[in-house]
Amino acid sequence: MTLPAKEINLTDEQKQKGFPEKPFADPFRPPDEEELTAAQKYSARLLELAAHGARLTPEEHDLVLALRHEESARLNNDHKMLASALIAQGRFEEAMAADPERAVECDQLIVARDRDDQDRCDCPDKEHQEIHGTHVAPSEYVVRRQYVPQRNNFAYLIRCNECGQLNLAVTPHHAITQYHSDRMRAIAFEKANFKKK
Ligand SMILES: [Zn+2]
Repeated sequence: MTLPAKEINLTDEQKQKGFPEKPFADPFRPPDEEELTAAQKYSARLLELAAHGARLTPEEHDLVLALRHEESARLNNDHKMLASALIAQGRFEEAMAADPERAVECDQLIVARDRDDQDRCDCPDKEHQEIHGTHVAPSEYVVRRQYVPQRNNFAYLIRCNECGQLNLAVTPHHAITQYHSDRMRAIAFEKANFKKK
């Protein structure tokens, strides 16, 4: 079944603010097969799965929320919310246009995205260390998991505490992901213990 195309009529104000003329993965307007990129197909599939109550991973769940937030932001002309929803989808160029106040942040994310996955800054203390029995966290840490449409995959947003360098890497250096998963496991363990008490 094909749903009718939804008319998108932007006001002059919205056009000036840089609202994209053609929304992406609009659930009311399934685009033609040819015009769908892998990322769009993936987003549409996720929305469909979520609508059927499928069990999603936390990352997939966040992406579904971002897609829904995008839709309501467009309906409510909320360009701040639209920018947040687009950033969560890895659509930094569009987010920048939707809310110019987030241009610097988006610019940094674009640089991070286009950086080589294995690229790391020259700061010391990038590895997890144990000094006199105390665990010392590495300067690099995972800020969040983030979808990257260009790669149709989820990436680790890695930040260095020392110099602030960002890298949005699908396959980052092993030490970073290892430290991240150990940390997540420790948090989950603490939560489980807290519930028991
Ligand atoms: Zn650094």
